[in-house]
Amino acid sequence: MNDFAMQPLSVERREELLATPGFGDVFTDHMVTMRWSAEVGWRDAKVGPLAAMSLHPATMALHYGQTIFEGMKAFWRPNGQRALFRPADHARRFNRSARRLTMPTLPEEQFVAALEALVRIDGGWVPRTRGHSLYLRPFMIAAETGLGLRPAEEYVFAVIGTPARPGSVEPKPMRLWAAPEYIRAAPGGTGAAKCGGNYGGAFVAQQQAVANDCDEVVWLDARERRYVEEAGGCNLFFVESTIDGPRLKTPPLSGTLLAGITRDSILRLAEKLGFRVAEEPITLDEWERGCRDGRIAETFACGTARSIVPVGHVVSADRDWPVGDGTAGPVTSRLRAAMLDIHHGQASDVFGWMRLVDTDADDSPVRIGPIQ
Ligand code: PLP
Repeated sequence: MNDFAMQPLSVERREELLATPGFGDVFTDHMVTMRWSAEVGWRDAKVGPLAAMSLHPATMALHYGQTIFEGMKAFWRPNGQRALFRPADHARRFNRSARRLTMPTLPEEQFVAALEALVRIDGGWVPRTRGHSLYLRPFMIAAETGLGLRPAEEYVFAVIGTPARPGSVEPKPMRLWAAPEYIRAAPGGTGAAKCGGNYGGAFVAQQQAVANDCDEVVWLDARERRYVEEAGGCNLFFVESTIDGPRLKTPPLSGTLLAGITRDSILRLAEKLGFRVAEEPITLDEWERGCRDGRIAETFACGTARSIVPVGHVVSADRDWPVGDGTAGPVTSRLRAAMLDIHHGQASDVFGWMRLVDTDADDSPVRIGPIQ
């Protein structure tokens, strides 16, 4: 744990932390902040030391849940450069979340400039190991003081960073818990937005998953409790074996699941690698039958935090089944390696997903672009 009162950390301490497996437990030395008010719009953009935020107890975000966030990564490349993965796509999703929660949008170039500013000043925190990265957490909260039940008229946007250091390059297959008594999102709700309430409301099922020796929940649709939507913090892909070779399918974007940037990347990458891909609904029963009769050879979860992770088992109160032989299948491993190659600049960036950030690491004030 780093104490931000003690930031910045010495290079030796930082290197020690970067070598220890973990996620979301230590933070870089700086943060970006920006404020918005109804009269002025966005203002006061700055990069400063990581510091506590002082909030009045009636700050509206604490009461009515106007909080949204993104999760994305910066990667180190063997030539010493750092690069962000699809930052403009994260900006667009952030703004979709903002509109759903009646919050101000942030111009795409401002969002990307804020990320670049943090990676530039804290470039030393981008781990230099394949599969490791600097996870960036842009977020926005309603900052107005008051208890009136309406959208706030003041907001704070901030970006913080935490190095993601997986324990091993090859992730352990996940066990997923199917809990039909809880739902994550319903039609017309906020399931497609990345807002805090979606996660707070999911912890009860996540606790059940952990109590049943599982890693994550697999969420079913709210209406029929039959269709697989996504897993906690990840989208899902099913690899069918057909006489024409593997075919990948993933649940369609119904409005109740998050449009994962990794999901979209896999749809495009898999097609480029010669796999057939489809966005099609699948029920829990079809998934079980497919695994039992061998039509579904692999399932994997994908998201920024975990990248691509095989699903080894599915468990519910009345049944459980293995997926394939419970280990990573060849399609999962191939896609994972291909994504890592793109992230770390070891394959050509044919989709234009990587945005290079120059890290000259000087301490001069960082400009993050004109304020709107
Ligand atoms: N689904 C949920 C609920 C998530 O929180 C995430 C993570 O952001 C994902 C899916 C995967 O999205 P992405 O690939 O953009 O990280």
